[in-house]
Amino acid sequence: MEKVLITGAAGFLGSHLCDKFINEGFHVIGMDNFITGDIKNISHLLDNPNFKFIEHDVTEFIKIDEDLDYILHFASPASPIDYLKIPIQTLKVGSLGTHNLLGLAKAKNARILIASTSEVYGDPLVHPQTEEYYGNVNTIGPRGVYDEAKRFQESITMAYHRFHGLETRIVRIFNTYGPRMRLNDGRVIPAFMGQALRGEDLTIFGDGLQTRSFCYVTDQVDGIYSLLFSDYSNPVNIGNPHEITIKDFAEEIIKLTGTNQKLVYKELPKDDPLQRQPDISLAKKLLNWEPKVGRQEGMLKTFNYFKDLTEEELYKSEHKDFSKHIRK
Ligand code: NAD
Ligand code: UDP
Repeated sequence: MEKVLITGAAGFLGSHLCDKFINEGFHVIGMDNFITGDIKNISHLLDNPNFKFIEHDVTEFIKIDEDLDYILHFASPASPIDYLKIPIQTLKVGSLGTHNLLGLAKAKNARILIASTSEVYGDPLVHPQTEEYYGNVNTIGPRGVYDEAKRFQESITMAYHRFHGLETRIVRIFNTYGPRMRLNDGRVIPAFMGQALRGEDLTIFGDGLQTRSFCYVTDQVDGIYSLLFSDYSNPVNIGNPHEITIKDFAEEIIKLTGTNQKLVYKELPKDDPLQRQPDISLAKKLLNWEPKVGRQEGMLKTFNYFKDLTEEELYKSEHKDFSKHIRK
């Protein structure tokens, strides 16, 4: 049985990747330190003989005794509110964590796939974003801790590829959503869904004319899976190109949830990108991949997940307490 190590396994994307690799017949080792993740995302796998979980912070040396065929490095805070609250952990997991995982991949002669992001394009001046675009990132702005960690991650990955001949893959993930997102992680979909379910008004940041393009999680996971087994080592965009303004999106959510909420306007966070849409021509050509799940279908599945949360989970809407992970 081939073995794969997945970091960030207790998070949103990591847990869906664990499911995918288990279903495809792999032995999966999941690793996480729970800083933004939750054990409940993988609790259904804990008794599976083909799954093993290791609680570990990947910024510390990683010791794995068994052989590994593949590594997927998905550990990192991903919500702007999360990474603004834990900026140093975010920088460390993208830099030191990635270095550890590349070293592990080299020692095990394993192929490694790194989770990069559309944030490497910053507030983009090219639209839609192709992989050739170098980006427009404010290095010292609040989002710089995430964007620059991910840009460093891409650079060190390419250096290991070129210098050590390591087999590497880089996926640039555009906004992805679905069940198992944390209701209080601050990202727009859980935020709006939580507000609708609690009967609160939906908070639009800025004028709501900024755009995003939302990809359903199963499409994202299929794209990542195809990329891992391709022979292409430069970055590839994976996302859904259907772009919508945040204001129109909020109105879609009000319709979907059948609620009567109003929109309230708050200040736009600094460096919040004004537009974002992936150009997925490369993924189509290279991987014969494109998203299949439309926004209406994906949002309904996601809403059904949030609707089934307990009252306690729904009202525990304050942001996660990171204090036990922060060294003073
Ligand atoms: P998430 O917060 O749900 O999951 C991240 C997981 O990584 C969490 O379980 C967290 O506890 C774990 N983690 C963080 N630091 C760690 C450390 N030092 N050691 C061990 N585990 C650690 O976020 P997500 O949406 O699932 O994102 C997963 C990956 O995908 C991230 O690398 C993120 O940058 C990337 N990504 C996601 C999106 C998206 O739309 N979901 C978009 C672009 C990129
Ligand atoms: N946003 C919003 N209201 C919220 C949360 C987010 O209007 O309650 C906006 C945010 O300013 C951004 C977009 O929604 O323009 C997507 O934000 P998210 O945090 O999901 O991720 P981003 O794409 O910015 O990384």
